[in-house]
Amino acid sequence: MALRNLVLEDDPLIRKHSRPVDEITPRIHKLLDDMADTMYFENRGIGIAAPQVGVLRRIFIVDVGDDHGLIEFINPEITYREGSQVGSEGCLSVPGKTCEVERPKKIKVKALDRNGNEFELEAEDLLARCICHEYDHLEGVLFIDKSVDGQVYRIEDNDE
Ligand code: ZN
Repeated sequence: MALRNLVLEDDPLIRKHSRPVDEITPRIHKLLDDMADTMYFENRGIGIAAPQVGVLRRIFIVDVGDDHGLIEFINPEITYREGSQVGSEGCLSVPGKTCEVERPKKIKVKALDRNGNEFELEAEDLLARCICHEYDHLEGVLFIDKSVDGQVYRIEDNDE
């Protein structure tokens, strides 16, 4: 198991545009494994994008706790968006903050898996929200940029 350091919101790196992966090498596999370790280590992590661990490549992973389990996306493209949903989000790179964000209710996303095979996935509700959030990281966009009411709230820490 290998954890990577998280890039936080005040680091200019989190605002950069990520480049496509042109070859899926053992380094990319190691990156995917480390991203999963890092995401699961952080209790509330249901998704993480490569720029959040300082790698400006178009890769993210999600696991919202449904039947899909862990899903890895390389060079993803959101090819379809339908409807809308508003709900609160958080982010490993923006610790202690939350706000309400509008996302599509349903999406289709196309990507490569770690073996270089293209797949297409239909996602709804939380999974769609999570994929859109992670996709935004590849463009240097954070969820706090998209607050529906312009407010960002602090999450109270209830640990005594
Ligand atoms: Zn995030």
